[in-house]
Amino acid sequence: MTTVAELIRNTDKPSFSFELLPPLKGNSIQKVFNTIDRLKEFNPLYINITSHRDEIVYKTNEKGITERRVFRKRPGTVAVAASIQNRYQIPVVPHMICSGFSKSETEYALIDLNFLGIHDLLLLRGDNSSRHEFCKSGQEENTYAIDLIHQVNNLNKGQFLDGTFMEPFETPFSYGVAGYPEKHEEAPNQESDIYWLKQKVEAGAEYVITQMFFDNEKFFSFVNKCRQAGITVPIVPGIKPINIKNQLTILPKVFHTEIPEPLAHELRKCKNNEETSLVGTEWATMQCKELLSRGFNLLHFYSMMATQSVYDIAKEVY
Ligand code: FAD
Repeated sequence: MTTVAELIRNTDKPSFSFELLPPLKGNSIQKVFNTIDRLKEFNPLYINITSHRDEIVYKTNEKGITERRVFRKRPGTVAVAASIQNRYQIPVVPHMICSGFSKSETEYALIDLNFLGIHDLLLLRGDNSSRHEFCKSGQEENTYAIDLIHQVNNLNKGQFLDGTFMEPFETPFSYGVAGYPEKHEEAPNQESDIYWLKQKVEAGAEYVITQMFFDNEKFFSFVNKCRQAGITVPIVPGIKPINIKNQLTILPKVFHTEIPEPLAHELRKCKNNEETSLVGTEWATMQCKELLSRGFNLLHFYSMMATQSVYDIAKEVY
């Protein structure tokens, strides 16, 4: 079986991949299929499926009393991945995260994935903001992505958490990790962030997918610094087309990425989402063309709420 890491290493022509979110709890999986149906003409190399932990949500009931609830808004990562693989025969990459998941929950999920024939993963720490503070799994969790890597490596060697052994998997898990062209929000500086990225690669990560960025120069500089630090695995650029007016302020806040002034200037002038989408799509198309011309053959798209924009960009660049 060819792994996603091998597919990425061997991309010698412009290639396409994208990320999907599992449906909101209670929603149909049909929305996921609709996105794939729209984008499959560009022959995605693989599709990523995000993973989500429990969150604290405050809801005001009909008596006006505000209740605090803990629940998972988007369950179902493993099942959605399996369902996509089964329906489309496109390789899938479910995300596995540390925060909010006990090590044993992770082990059981990995056993399920192995039985389902899914062996490509993206290993991450997961979002860790204050709204999650009180919904820990209650059992021991992995702290950093590298701890999760060690757990997966042990399982690849046939070692369970309780110290017992089994036959090593015939198809061991292969995985990538996240990288941040504008550094991770908690890293004291970019060098430190790249130091930890290198640890993840040396531990076994076969490629890096980046956080979204809107300034290609920041991506090129990040790649240079990674190469200087001795990180040689493929670094796949993550592209997000802006298509909703309030993303001008929300994306920098949530993803800690800067929006260059020429783009911000044009976005400020937009009166509605339609105008925003035109500007955002044009900018992302320009980014993609430059990335392809500089030899970054594989572009990874953040498709959430932006299927049509991703379609328009792909139509233009592939
Ligand atoms: P890590 O690699 O653990 O790094 C976290 C921070 O700690 C960094 O500042 C790093 O420099 C530092 N660090 C790393 N290792 C150590 C160490 N051993 N000791 C001290 N410091 C260390 N979130 C989700 O919840 N679900 C998803 O599906 C999801 N998908 C994503 C996909 C991509 C492509 C990207 C870029 C991000 C995604 N995220 C997702 C968000 C991600 O989980 C957060 O950005 C998280 O805060 C960091 O994850 P990481 O794997 O990069 O963490």
